[in-house]
Amino acid sequence: MKTEPKPRSKKPTKEAVFRGIAVSPGIAIGPIHDTSEVATDVPRRVITPAEVEAEREKLNQAAATARKQVTKLKTRLNILPEEAQEELAPLLDAYILMLGNSRLLRGARKRIGDAGLGAETAVLDEAEEIAALILATKDDDKAGLLRRAGEVREIGRRLIRTLTATPFRSLKDVPQGAILIAEEITPADAALLDPARIAGVATEEGGADGHTAIMLRALGIPAVLGCHGLTEAASRGDQAVLDGGTGKVVLHPGEAALVAAREGLAGYARERTKLGKLRRLPAETTDGEVVELQANLEIPAELPLIAQAGAQGIGLLRSEFLFMNRPELPDEDAQFDAYRSIVEAMAGDAVTIRVLDWGGEKDMEALGQGVPAHTGPNPALGLRGIRLLLKRPELLEEQFAAILRVSARGPVRVMLPMITIPEEVAQAREIYERVARRLRRRGEALPEKLPPLGAMIETPGAALAADAIALEADFFSIGTNDLAMYTLAVDRAETDVAHLYDPLHPAVLRLVQFATEAALRMRMQVSVCGEMAGNPRLVPLLLGLGLRSLSMNASAIPRVKQAIRVLDIDDCARFARRVMEQSDPARIRELVAAFGAEKAKPIS
Ligand code: PEP
Ligand code: MG
Repeated sequence: MKTEPKPRSKKPTKEAVFRGIAVSPGIAIGPIHDTSEVATDVPRRVITPAEVEAEREKLNQAAATARKQVTKLKTRLNILPEEAQEELAPLLDAYILMLGNSRLLRGARKRIGDAGLGAETAVLDEAEEIAALILATKDDDKAGLLRRAGEVREIGRRLIRTLTATPFRSLKDVPQGAILIAEEITPADAALLDPARIAGVATEEGGADGHTAIMLRALGIPAVLGCHGLTEAASRGDQAVLDGGTGKVVLHPGEAALVAAREGLAGYARERTKLGKLRRLPAETTDGEVVELQANLEIPAELPLIAQAGAQGIGLLRSEFLFMNRPELPDEDAQFDAYRSIVEAMAGDAVTIRVLDWGGEKDMEALGQGVPAHTGPNPALGLRGIRLLLKRPELLEEQFAAILRVSARGPVRVMLPMITIPEEVAQAREIYERVARRLRRRGEALPEKLPPLGAMIETPGAALAADAIALEADFFSIGTNDLAMYTLAVDRAETDVAHLYDPLHPAVLRLVQFATEAALRMRMQVSVCGEMAGNPRLVPLLLGLGLRSLSMNASAIPRVKQAIRVLDIDDCARFARRVMEQSDPARIRELVAAFGAEKAKPIS
């Protein structure tokens, strides 16, 4: 498919404001780069006659998926200004028709059989032919013809993207300083983003604590997710302002919006300088209680940020990065090299390596890993985290071996994701010790005492059985992201239910309290590594519940430290008791805001 300039359908050209979920603070001013322009250069694929039926079925499935996506977009138009709705609704209707029993799909199905083409190649050829026919029509309305041809190509691209499960590969070609917009960005896509190049990110899909949001925060890229209507309204090259702190994107900003954005940018720079001064100061309350502040690491590119932030080690190394965006699984040596460079960079500060937490949103199939895909109806409740690893123990053995070898180079802890029963920790420990014995026989120098093996407490089951799990685990780390998702039955990455995702729901807080108290009774180390830990407004509550160790996105450390340094621990305990008496999340939010307002002091 040729990449002719995208014809401008009747899209708004006046200033238009779009609102979404504020997931990563910061301001971006720049041209829009729309990633839906990709997937035009897929390799041509031919098939055998025996594959024709399966290929047609693949096309049918892709059309159904794409139709669902566009229909969903349409149901969300009502949040846009009426004028924009009137312009966009007919466009989406045309898309939905084209994804039904249209000439495009009939033609592509025929090409699969007649010419023996792979489905994506068939779609490409058919869309090109239809576009060429439209453009050759005798009609004075050249702009209209161009627009209709563009629509056919757009639908072709959409189908090809679905058919090839292509992550947005054009992420690599984003122009310097652009604001990247897309319907959705997967965690694997986000891992490829270059924060020095991309000014901001806005997507239609996504929730505040999904892995994509976490990755964007970790990279320090200002981002707004769940920003409905933006991708349909914006065209490549349009000017925009994005505010990741308030969740606002202004398309075609007027002078006032531009001036405000420039002031905001300068404000962020001033704040960064002030916060930088906290780096060497302890995270200590006014009455001398010291809190351990560690960093979460999703990709090694964050290491310099972690050093700058003054983290006391890594409290959560999400090892998934090692398995993403590569054609095959990393072997023991490749993992060893990656962990070693991180452990050495941390120069004596502990690194908590979480073994592979695959599944749920972090879809394996899309990443083409050769790990059995969980195609069940509800992947978040399926074979993810420790369940997958115990079912495929060779994966766990390789990872344990790499981590154990690294433990001779610096302090390491090992963490198990998605634990729900004590038996999972016991089984993992058996494998852990077996791998250690094997390595010792091989002559590897391991520390006499093996690194601690801890459990993530991120399911309601684990939180309520924390006392039993504590008998098997060496430490706990509370993952409030999944804990909130599973407690409230709200997908953390799903825009449509994002308003219900609430770590301040009393049910979630009670589980945090229960697990923390179970650990403290056993004198076992317990920390929080979910996104809650990096929210300065929630720190008084976490300290009041008895927590003294928090692990967060490196860029949040200075603000959390600043918050801790004006707190008194008895105040926090009283405040937490008050909060825990409440049953209404809205009232809890009010209490949190009031406590924060009282404590807020400018940095001196
Ligand atoms: C969590 O669930 O809170 C957590 C820290 O793990 P992840 O976000 O990687 O699922
Ligand atoms: Mg989790």
